[in-house]
Amino acid sequence: MMNYFIGFCKKFPLLLSILTSINAITPDGSPPLKNLLKAHAAETKCTSKSYDYIIAGGGLAGCVLAERLTSDGKSKVLMLEAGRSDYNTLFIRIPAGILRLFRSVYDWQYETSGEEDCEGRNIYLQRGMVLGGSSCTNVLLYHRGSAMDYDSWKVPGWTSSDVLPFFKLSEDDKIGKSSDYHSKGGEWTVDQVRYQNPLSKAFLTVAHDEWGLPYNDDFNNWSRSQEGIGRYDVNEKNGERVSGASGFLSKAIKRKNLTVRSGAMVRKIEFDKSKTAKSITYDLMGDDTGDTFSAKLADGGEVIVTGGAIASPQILMCSGIGPRKELESLGINVIADLDGVGQNLQDHPAAVVSFTTPKKGVSVTSKLRIFGLSNPFPLLRWLLFKTGLLTSTGCDHGAFIKVGENVEQPNLQLRFLAAKALTPDGMTTFTKFRTAKTLEDGYSFQSIAVRSKNRGEVKLASSNTHTKPIIDLKYLHDRDDLITLREGIKLTRKLGRSSKWNEYLGEEVFPGPEVNSDEEIEDYIRRSVHTSNALTGTCKMGLGDDCVVTPDLKVRGVQGVRVADSSILPQIIGGQTATPTVMIAEKAAAFLKA
Ligand SMILES: Cc1cc2nc3c(=O)[nH]c(=O)nc-3n(C[C@H](O)[C@H](O)[C@H](O)COP(=O)(O)OP(=O)(O)OC[C@H]3O[C@@H](n4cnc5c(N)ncnc54)[C@H](O)[C@@H]3O)c2cc1C
Repeated sequence: MMNYFIGFCKKFPLLLSILTSINAITPDGSPPLKNLLKAHAAETKCTSKSYDYIIAGGGLAGCVLAERLTSDGKSKVLMLEAGRSDYNTLFIRIPAGILRLFRSVYDWQYETSGEEDCEGRNIYLQRGMVLGGSSCTNVLLYHRGSAMDYDSWKVPGWTSSDVLPFFKLSEDDKIGKSSDYHSKGGEWTVDQVRYQNPLSKAFLTVAHDEWGLPYNDDFNNWSRSQEGIGRYDVNEKNGERVSGASGFLSKAIKRKNLTVRSGAMVRKIEFDKSKTAKSITYDLMGDDTGDTFSAKLADGGEVIVTGGAIASPQILMCSGIGPRKELESLGINVIADLDGVGQNLQDHPAAVVSFTTPKKGVSVTSKLRIFGLSNPFPLLRWLLFKTGLLTSTGCDHGAFIKVGENVEQPNLQLRFLAAKALTPDGMTTFTKFRTAKTLEDGYSFQSIAVRSKNRGEVKLASSNTHTKPIIDLKYLHDRDDLITLREGIKLTRKLGRSSKWNEYLGEEVFPGPEVNSDEEIEDYIRRSVHTSNALTGTCKMGLGDDCVVTPDLKVRGVQGVRVADSSILPQIIGGQTATPTVMIAEKAAAFLKA
């Protein structure tokens, strides 16, 4: 009966979309591999050719590169992606669909391993496992950081004036911002969210009045300070998510010179005696035959590693590029002894303050429920008009603020949410929104240490890329991050308690009135700190001995391998990291085509 019903629904995709959404059925969990014989035949065909470029990881950077490197119609490119192919599924296209993507089949669901300064907690890290990677599962904010971020790297060719043209290359600004810093016509569309909750509007006024901070209508305009309060721009086009896959890959996917294999787990890069890359070994997700495949490079061809900040160092280490001792202890043949691989892991740690509000039905979360079930009207509105609250991932209003003495750049980013948190850990709250039947009204502030000083590491647990690596973010190890978050909590709880909220003013739920002294707030942060999803830095770019790649993104000590994704950032920028990743991939494509 159920199969008959599902079959019926499949004939009517719109009906299926609506039903899956309102009945909280998670996206189709079937593994990518459906027919082993067919899949093996496809791989045999794919591995019978050789390629000018093999892209290892079909995430955000991979998709940009796949488009740029095949645009000449000549260069033969293979892209291998371990995750799924259905980047166009409804939950990914709808910005608010992100609530269904946490801890789903589109998520690698990494965890850190017992954070020492956070009471030994294993902290959840979401990462996209689908063509488009984390750009399919992120919250869409368009930030570049500041000019000073890039200038402080001191890497030749990567100053703010060097990178600005590459930001502009892919941008399609729909808002009409200064052409000195923005451009139109690219694949990476930038717009404002088509929905503003009354609480979010109130936030802009209350925060402006309380803090006296200026309004900022463009956090990416490098002619002025990043400080201020405002709406964050987003990667949306007509109310729909723009991901690496929908923006870039969709343009290239029909080109004859591009081959894309999803469900294809890169195991390692193979080298000849002169340490020149020759091929990539991969296998298929869900295939327990143990068969592997070898994709060959044409003479002079290159591998571009784009697995993101966790998987790129993992792929390098499994290929024999990394710290000798660590590799040898796992029986991996060392090709290049590079201590920096997997080091320098960075992120923006976050902490939450949350309030109830007496105003019933105002929060985005309560608008998503009707009689304890999913409310179909926002979905219908999105399907028909691409407007309404589903065009928002929920955190597109906020501020950049300097806290503490002698601070050159804003060290605190705030994200305002027109929703009451369900737990003090923002990532767990996002996961729980999906299943909670009743969602009480409220408002929340997420404080983010946006120029974090922590440095963690990614280490191998096995020589097999199917085994997740050991991740230690060393959150809060640097006391400055703890202090930034503590001051963020003090600022936002004071803001949340302001009488200027008028009819919205509610009561604090997290941290709660019993948490008062600095020590108590710090303790609350240790118990609840979570990622704000800016993992970077593990294949550091630069000139020093600790660097993994040179300024033209070549892996040191071998030939024919580059890394071109979020892992190459030497130092985290003060903003979210998708747009800098697009810029990095644009620069990589220019190097490769030069
Ligand atoms: C929940 C969340 C919210 C975020 N919010 C924002 C935001 O609002 N704004 C913003 O700018 N940034 C945001 N980010 C960060 C941003 O999405 C990432 O910085 C960006 O996607 C990184 O791009 P990447 O190409 O380096 O990695 P990814 O996009 O993660 O791509 C890596 C790809 O490699 C694949 N892969 C991994 N291992 C292998 C293997 N062995 N073989 C084959 N393929 C493999 C993965 O499946 C994935 O597709 C967010 C991220 C998350 C997770």
